[in-house]
Amino acid sequence: MKKYRVYLGACDSYDADKITAVLEKALQEKILTKPISGKVVIKPNLVMAHAKVATEGYTRKEVVEGILRIVQKHGQDVEKIDIVEKSGLGITTAGQFRGAGYRPLKKKYGVKLRAMEERRRRIAVLEKGKIHRHISIAAEMAERDFLIFAPKLKTNVLTFAYSGALKLNIGTIDSKERLDNHNCHLPAKIVDILEAANPDLIVTDGIRFAFGGCQMTQPGADMGVIAVSNNAVAHDIVCAHLLGLDPDEIVHIREAASRDYGPSSIDEIEILGDFPIKKGRKICKKLDFGFIPVEKFPCKFKIHVGVPYCYGGCQGIFLDWLHMIKDKKPRLLKKFPKIDVIIGKVKKPIVAKKALLIGDCATASQVGAKKTVIIKGCPPSHKMIVWKMMTRFRLLAPMVRVSLIFDGFVLYPLKKIKGWFANLGYS
Ligand code: SF4
Repeated sequence: MKKYRVYLGACDSYDADKITAVLEKALQEKILTKPISGKVVIKPNLVMAHAKVATEGYTRKEVVEGILRIVQKHGQDVEKIDIVEKSGLGITTAGQFRGAGYRPLKKKYGVKLRAMEERRRRIAVLEKGKIHRHISIAAEMAERDFLIFAPKLKTNVLTFAYSGALKLNIGTIDSKERLDNHNCHLPAKIVDILEAANPDLIVTDGIRFAFGGCQMTQPGADMGVIAVSNNAVAHDIVCAHLLGLDPDEIVHIREAASRDYGPSSIDEIEILGDFPIKKGRKICKKLDFGFIPVEKFPCKFKIHVGVPYCYGGCQGIFLDWLHMIKDKKPRLLKKFPKIDVIIGKVKKPIVAKKALLIGDCATASQVGAKKTVIIKGCPPSHKMIVWKMMTRFRLLAPMVRVSLIFDGFVLYPLKKIKGWFANLGYS
């Protein structure tokens, strides 16, 4: 028996009974290497869940329900179960719990939904960290005995076309720390966090998978698989193959393997279950994952890229914004004004009517323009790009909806204040 084991179970619908049956079979294959006990934390992917604009890129509640049933049945002396998350785009995690339909799980299974931005936190010291020496994580995450990751099977243009278990950890930290070194150092940053939050069990929702486009608004397709493992690196190597990707080209997977968090090749992994990898590859064969250099994105903008080239930073985040428009408002692409977009420090001088500088490095470029808009940050946040493109160029992303503006600009700051008081000991 090999040390690393990944179970790929066929499951054709979001039926909690079927999902539970797949998980039962996976556990019979000795996937667990330690008992589920004590304080259990489940970390799903709820980067955004919205009935109109973000319908595919998050972990479905039926998969979490299957996990809860397994915990209840196989857990030994389970004290409590917390579902802990921090959503993306500077919107409230509570709103994503609601959007994804998680709230009924509270009563049905006695679990708590913990939105990181409004909760107590702990500082985790990272002795092996290359980027971070310490990070702030949810108290429940820090005090857990057993950690279950529930990622979504999906692609992501910021991380070499692949999301997954390792990348899920970006949602373990909060806004400022999340954007700190979210640039060419993103792969090392992702692996740093593993020291504080390394899952004991991973259950991936691949019944439908999300691909191409923006990580929030991307479309989806049927895959019919649930992946179960006890090692995040082994899990990601197998799931990358499932999508037809080469894990050696996904830098954070390579980085995690080089730091001995898991295997370095699929040959070291025992693949079990009734869903063949080749079936996944066949489904993905003709799909466009949208992982292209931002300057080659077909639109009316003239995009100039300089140095550094940050897939996980300015270049990747702006590509993600362009995909967001393409995903949900493709006709708007044709109406884009002529703008020269500068990302990174560009060597040659640029003369333009309208110039848009993305990120702090771009400000070191020589630009002569009648109208210049700068979106600062290293990198700028998605929220800031959406906001500035709306207010300065009247380009309304699909996220520009009254409910989301209220959530992001009124509720979210209030939740942060609640979290601030909680950390002062007032909750
Ligand atoms: S400002 Fe942008 S291009 Fe420059 S280092 Fe930061 S993320 Fe990279």
